[in-house]
Amino acid sequence: MRRLFLTLCVCLSIAEIVGAAPGSVHCGKLLDVRSGQMLTDQVVTFDAEGTITSVAPAAGSSAGAIDLSRATCLPGLIDVHTHVTGDPQHSGYAGLGVSVPRQAVTGVKNARLTLRAGFTSIRNVGASDFTDVAVRDGVNAGEIEGPRMLVSGPALGITGGHCDDNLLPYEYHHRSEGVADGPWVARAKVREVIKYGADVIKICASGGVLSKGDLPGTPQYTLDEMAAIAEEAHKLGRKVAAHAHGTQSIKDALRAGIDSIEHSSLIDDEGIALAKQRGTYLVFDIYNDDFILQEGAKAGMLRESIEKEKKIGRLQRENFRKAFQAGAKIAYGTDSGVYPHGDNAKQFGKMVEWGMKPMDAIRASTLNAADLIGWSDRVGSLEKGHYADLIAVEGDPLSDVTTLEKVKFVMKGGAVARNDFMK
Ligand SMILES: [Zn+2]
Repeated sequence: MRRLFLTLCVCLSIAEIVGAAPGSVHCGKLLDVRSGQMLTDQVVTFDAEGTITSVAPAAGSSAGAIDLSRATCLPGLIDVHTHVTGDPQHSGYAGLGVSVPRQAVTGVKNARLTLRAGFTSIRNVGASDFTDVAVRDGVNAGEIEGPRMLVSGPALGITGGHCDDNLLPYEYHHRSEGVADGPWVARAKVREVIKYGADVIKICASGGVLSKGDLPGTPQYTLDEMAAIAEEAHKLGRKVAAHAHGTQSIKDALRAGIDSIEHSSLIDDEGIALAKQRGTYLVFDIYNDDFILQEGAKAGMLRESIEKEKKIGRLQRENFRKAFQAGAKIAYGTDSGVYPHGDNAKQFGKMVEWGMKPMDAIRASTLNAADLIGWSDRVGSLEKGHYADLIAVEGDPLSDVTTLEKVKFVMKGGAVARNDFMK
């Protein structure tokens, strides 16, 4: 809680730096994500701290308000699985030539792209060293443009696992900084990443697609290790996100008390039932499969990665549909960085193609995502007391969810980051 308090204070001071002032926005339509109702002719008013003070029908004149009367307003979107300090062209061996400071610069570029795409909050799960901590702090200080960020720093994982770096032979003695084997070493690593600024803990429970020499379905962290990590993280006020493609790893992570299952590709009926019973969020990154298959080789992804994706991509989409239809909780996470940043909204169309109604997909990226990241009291819906994080599109996202790929207006905490309606 203390950390959340500090974060809030930092955010208030940004409003001063970027010169946010009290104001209002006049929306021709406004999507109330709680009721699912599309309201017409609404005015959203906010104070000098960038906090919403009212959402009410436009009574008479709304002079002085930002004019979005031809647009549909929604709450700022949230992506709970990003890698802002990485780009697709840094995949495979190409990534070895990218220094840690250079990755931070990449993160500065991508934070801006992500915000301008309508994502006003993100959870960054995995970055070399603490590059995402630096980007978050730069955003919070008002020095660079970007979304509100919760960040993990380096992801924790086993020696030789998905969260290690297995590209170089033994004589280079190279490994990722998040490698931690055994419950106590893993606990110490949790303490270490928190010491250097992690808001959330990311771990690798199973093998992955873009790593060398492992298989997505194979367990990596044991139940014991994950239980120790979850206990340590929760004690210190942090949630844990577990990368888990494999059937067994998903269930082990759920039983260990992990807070969200990332990828969830090979989840079975028992896993879905367990997730429901425990109220654990499932995150299915079902857009990037297309990018990996079409562009991955050009981006330098390993041949084995593309073969792994071919085996797992369709199963993940089928299991997404199954989990959603069974009533499991789903939050919107895309694995940006695997595909180009700024395309985060392309997953909405996939979620609808695979069984969700547009409203369900939008809730996954607003109310549900806010709940998962512990920020339900400040983001995820347009209501009094929340940040004035608001986006607008032309057309109706409830009849065509792909309108969210063309966000034309973005406001974060009352400060306009983009307004294409003025052009
Ligand atoms: Zn990821």
